[in-house]
Amino acid sequence: MFRLLIGWISVLRLEYEYRRRKTMDQKRNILMIIAALVLIASLSAVMCVNEVIEEQKQASELRIWELRQENEKLLAERYWNRLRRQIRFIHPIRSTWISSGMGYRKDPLGGVGDERLHKGIDIVDIPGTNVVAVMDGVVMEHWLVPGVHNGKLYHGHEIFGGFVVIKHTEELYSLYGHLGQTQVHEGQYINAGEKLGELGNTGLSTGPHLHFEVVVDPFVYLEGEL
Ligand SMILES: [Zn+2]
Repeated sequence: MFRLLIGWISVLRLEYEYRRRKTMDQKRNILMIIAALVLIASLSAVMCVNEVIEEQKQASELRIWELRQENEKLLAERYWNRLRRQIRFIHPIRSTWISSGMGYRKDPLGGVGDERLHKGIDIVDIPGTNVVAVMDGVVMEHWLVPGVHNGKLYHGHEIFGGFVVIKHTEELYSLYGHLGQTQVHEGQYINAGEKLGELGNTGLSTGPHLHFEVVVDPFVYLEGEL
């Protein structure tokens, strides 16, 4: 009887021990699941924060880029206005007949379908008509019209033939091409309205006209940093 009791008690103890361990295992499993969940949650929270930071960074970069654009536009406008205030161009020739404006056009001397940028305007007038400086300046370049001058043969500028370039400001030049006669020398100061040559048909030209072009320093448009 006593033995039976002992045996029964030990069975109960074993069962108790078994149940206790089982409960502990279950608790541990639950704890592990909770820990894993917490880890996942914190990882995704970190990722979310990173994403938000990245979005904010991109937004601020975009804003800086926009500001830069606005700033450059403003500055370019200001510089251009400043430059324009200094410009007092008069007509380089009496005619106002523009036979070809600025922009892309079929090159009259090029091949079929050959579009080139025409960087100036072509003004038609009678050969021999006076061509004058549009503004005070210094003659920087002078190409004699093709032909013999003082016993020497000149070919003129390969495109513009008799050709004159005048510098008006540090940022501004004017060009006169296809001249039939020139009467300037390099380094010469020239006044607005002063004759620099006569209209002609020299260089690569299909008829008597003046090629008039203005060159502006691109820096005028580029200045400015945030
Ligand atoms: Zn032209």
